[in-house]
Amino acid sequence: MDDVAVRARCALCGRGLTFEEWQAGRQRCSSCRAAGRAPASSGAEAPPIDYTQLLDEVSDDLLNELLALLDEEQVRRRSSREPVLPPEPTPLARFLSDVFGPPSPREQSWAAWGFALGFAANVLLAKLAQAESGAPLADIVVPMLLGGATAGGIGALIGWALARLRDR
Ligand SMILES: [Zn+2]
Repeated sequence: MDDVAVRARCALCGRGLTFEEWQAGRQRCSSCRAAGRAPASSGAEAPPIDYTQLLDEVSDDLLNELLALLDEEQVRRRSSREPVLPPEPTPLARFLSDVFGPPSPREQSWAAWGFALGFAANVLLAKLAQAESGAPLADIVVPMLLGGATAGGIGALIGWALARLRDR
């Protein structure tokens, strides 16, 4: 606590520093700086602030106050009657629903299963390829995820089409 009080004051005249001055790591107030007065030790500015130390110095009261404000804000948002927008559909989903109309629940679940199967199959293939080539797994992960998304998309399409055929 003493440390904070010392640092928050001008090293020369003892006047309280503004928050901006303190935040910039200055030890002199603006009038001392303007007058060209330098601290006795050296003319150099204080080193930049150690933010972990700064965090330690933030009082619990302040944190509690901030948390209370956040809570208040959350309650305010929940009680307001702003409509919650549905998630933006993917271009593929938009295209399909344009062509075929909105998907039925069965089509949605078959498409989801198709995606999961396509993704899993791709991961399995990538894993086999990795075991075969002896490449580190890290080299496989990105192409695996990209390929998984593509294979999953194709699987979803197949699942969707199957569901439509079945519904006829
Ligand atoms: Zn001063």
